Amino acid sequence: MEHKIKRIILLGPQGAGKTTQAERIEQFLDINILLAGGVLRQEIKSKSEFGLKIAEIVNTGGLIPDQWMIDLMVQNLNKEEYKNGFILDGFPRSVTQAKYLDEKTKIKIDKVFNIEISDEEAVDRLSNRRVCPNGHIFHLLYKLPKTEGICDTCQLKLEQRADDTPETVLKRLKIYRNETSKLLDYYHQQKKLVVFNGSESIELVSDDILNYLKAHVR
Ligand code: AMP
Repeated sequence: MEHKIKRIILLGPQGAGKTTQAERIEQFLDINILLAGGVLRQEIKSKSEFGLKIAEIVNTGGLIPDQWMIDLMVQNLNKEEYKNGFILDGFPRSVTQAKYLDEKTKIKIDKVFNIEISDEEAVDRLSNRRVCPNGHIFHLLYKLPKTEGICDTCQLKLEQRADDTPETVLKRLKIYRNETSKLLDYYHQQKKLVVFNGSESIELVSDDILNYLKAHVR
């Protein structure tokens, strides 16, 4: 069964469940995820020159300058592992970044999935979010680890992301509503936007997404 949709962008406020749903889509379509925030956090962790330049911006919830982000992500997207398709989580985050992909690269986007939740829900989800150093995500109310404070998969200690504090979450959401949400119009005009209700349970949202994908086979 071949799918027509192989190059997907995920949009949605912080906490909408993009990364969790990206993992479901990855398994279903057998394509790889490229997680913008993950690439950045890896750079920060490795203390590379670039990592040192961006640490403050990421940890305080600002946006990395467009051209830095574009260079980093286009370089990644051209790797062999993304030749058959990809799920982009966290990029593009501005119309400038999206236009660059469309106008200056051969990277074609098939669909843009917007997973929508309210700001109240986003704040609640992020302040209760805990992650392991490998990026596995838990929630103190809805997705508890089997052992308190420990990742089920890696057995490593769970932490709160430096940018998941209430003040930084509000700043990130404001940027999302002011800046990133302009992408919704941009992709709507291209007839690529599909909206999903992210306030349902993880299972229901992934059923919705996978049903949509199942309906789009060649
Ligand atoms: P995320 O894990 O997607 O929430 O991203 C974490 C942080 O990385 C964001 O708050 C930004 O500081 C930075 N970041 C991630 N993706 C981008 C992007 N496409 N453009 C600019 N900054 C980004």
